Amino acid sequence: MTTRQWGNLSWTDFRDLDKNEVLPVLPIASMEQHGPHLPVATDSLCCDLLVAGICEKLDDVDTVVLPQIWCSRSNEHVNFPGTVFLERETFINAVMEVAASVARAGFKKLVIVNWHGGNTPLLGSIVHDIRQETGLLVVVIDLLNLLSHYTPPWFEEGSFDIHAERLETAVILHGYPELVKKMDFAGLGSDLQHGKMARDFKGFKHLIPEGGDVFMSWETNDLSDDGIIGNPEGATAEEGAEVLDYMVNLSCEIMREVVRFDYE
Ligand SMILES: [Zn+2]
Repeated sequence: MTTRQWGNLSWTDFRDLDKNEVLPVLPIASMEQHGPHLPVATDSLCCDLLVAGICEKLDDVDTVVLPQIWCSRSNEHVNFPGTVFLERETFINAVMEVAASVARAGFKKLVIVNWHGGNTPLLGSIVHDIRQETGLLVVVIDLLNLLSHYTPPWFEEGSFDIHAERLETAVILHGYPELVKKMDFAGLGSDLQHGKMARDFKGFKHLIPEGGDVFMSWETNDLSDDGIIGNPEGATAEEGAEVLDYMVNLSCEIMREVVRFDYE
């Protein structure tokens, strides 16, 4: 079906669109360091690949894709140059106000596609505010939720791969190989299990920075000297295509349910 880019339409196009048939999509990512081997736009590029894959695969849903919000809440990377982020209120307001304009254009539903873990809790909470303020049904397709049931073939029990690691490296190798620095990946990264972290988390049962029993105020340099949380070693373009395919398929299922959901 048809994929339209929001910015390419005229106001009369918006006036004439069947708002019940066309689903608006708002991509959100971040601009943050991704180790010495990947570009700071990694999340933005991955998000673009995911959204393009979804729109290409969705043969039964019309979409209109807004320009990506590329700057968000990535202050955990503050100690690495090249990272650009917004204050929390600025980011929340930006998303709320873009959503309000989507509603003003006459749409009833909005799908947000987010590729940055630091935005996940914020988006999870403001969907309610967006609905109350704009009337929009908002559904967030989120990187962390998409991957929560995905176990990569290389997964090792107890490993802690969350940033600029093998998965993200593989996706960029697949989509933008020219942007991956040629270097030996074996010497890169950090490792929770073997104490290769900048600060040692070995011997702590509950103080796991992410995904453990607590929320913790970690910064990237607590975990890693080179900005990679995990290890990119072994990443291939083929793996990147596979994981992206998984995410695209799951996202398409979600999009179809959003369309099917009766919402007035
Ligand atoms: Zn990332």
